[in-house]
Amino acid sequence: MPVLVLEPTKTYQLLLESLFKDRGFQIVCLDSGALGLQQIMEERFDLICVALHLKDMSGIDFCRALRDKNKENLPVIMVTSDMRKAVFAEGMAAGITEVFRKEDLLAITKYLTLFKEQQAGHLKVKGTVLYVENNDASLMLVQRLLASMGLRVIHVRSAEEAYKEFNASEYDLVLTDTLLNGPMSGLALIREIRGGPEKKKRVPILVISSLEDTSRKIETLRNGANDYVSKPVIPEELAARIRNLIGNKKLADQVERQQQYLKEMAMTDSLTSLYNRHCLTEIAPRYISEATRHDIPLSFVVIDLDHFKKINDTYGHSLGDRVLVEVAGLLKKSCRKEDLAARFGGEEFLLILPHCKGKDAASKAERLREKIETLKPNGISVTASFGVYQLPLGSLVSFEEVFVMADRAVYEAKEKGRNLVILGEEEDEGLS
Ligand code: GH3
Ligand code: MG
Ligand code: MG
Repeated sequence: MPVLVLEPTKTYQLLLESLFKDRGFQIVCLDSGALGLQQIMEERFDLICVALHLKDMSGIDFCRALRDKNKENLPVIMVTSDMRKAVFAEGMAAGITEVFRKEDLLAITKYLTLFKEQQAGHLKVKGTVLYVENNDASLMLVQRLLASMGLRVIHVRSAEEAYKEFNASEYDLVLTDTLLNGPMSGLALIREIRGGPEKKKRVPILVISSLEDTSRKIETLRNGANDYVSKPVIPEELAARIRNLIGNKKLADQVERQQQYLKEMAMTDSLTSLYNRHCLTEIAPRYISEATRHDIPLSFVVIDLDHFKKINDTYGHSLGDRVLVEVAGLLKKSCRKEDLAARFGGEEFLLILPHCKGKDAASKAERLREKIETLKPNGISVTASFGVYQLPLGSLVSFEEVFVMADRAVYEAKEKGRNLVILGEEEDEGLS
């Protein structure tokens, strides 16, 4: 990474030289502004470091002359012992990027390290961009920039195509012009995206446009664009804005994933990944009120493994765990999407089955009973007792009451010899 250092004193030149070289920069050292301006036309530099006082001019005048030579985007840092506000303000107005106190080598070092990282990082951002542009001149430039940043790009020419594409795949950024082929404008595209489903509507949108007026920019942002870049595009500016937007999106995605994970951790049992007791007490009442409100049959099945203590005693606790995991897997597999399977105690499970009458739930339980009997996890014979109970239609019953009734049916199954399904309620009939 080539750097031009303009510094009149030999000792400080040597100091800067070692500072830059230690961080992997290649440097050219000169002591006058005129030589610097000449050098800059002959060679490409990524950074300029200039002293406030050069042999022939001030570092600020040098920067002004540099900016006049169409070098607006080249970063220039100035080192000086004169830290007065006026100097700082004049430097900034002339286009100096950063001012450092000459003695503060630590601050200069930190800047260089970060600069290096950003330059390297500038080339690589992971993500997929939906790029909407119908102007071939901008297209070439921006596509080259996006590719050099390491981004995957899907390019379309109209807002209609963009919206279709946006809904079909996952994107980390939408980059769009405002005036496009076809009747739909870039603004309409932004509105469609922002009005869409929760997860998709937060994808960042960066607008590139040749329309300069402020009211239009405000309108664009109001419609939901995150940022705005004017044409002709300055690659460094566009790259920095893209980096920020994609970086923030990735961060937000990560936070969301962590929250989801924590939520699942709090709701599920770590051994079997079935819902846990805590979750059950939250969700079961919702099933009940939903069923009561819409007059939907709702059944509960309590499952208690038989003589599980003996299984633990005979095969050891970890094989006992294996049995629990396999039985849980079987229960999960047998559930429909709207059903709920939970482990609410050691070797006790509960199924909540909406749209299922007691008799149907008992038949389902009977099939499960047979499957558990033939499961033989790790060659271990295991059976279970089932208590089935249908929520009485039209009466207000709490989850606790329903649970007591289903649990009573399990108790009865145990008493009648285990490995049995008992349908609770008035009929009280054993099916196995
Ligand atoms: P019953 O047929 O009457 O239900 O007899 P049981 O032995 O299954 O019933 P009991 O309630 O006496 O014993 C339950 C056993 O389940 C005791 C306990 O050690 C075991 N258990 C509870 N949680 C776990 C667990 O997470 N892993 C293992 N391996 N065993 C557990
Ligand atoms: Mg038990
Ligand atoms: Mg048991």
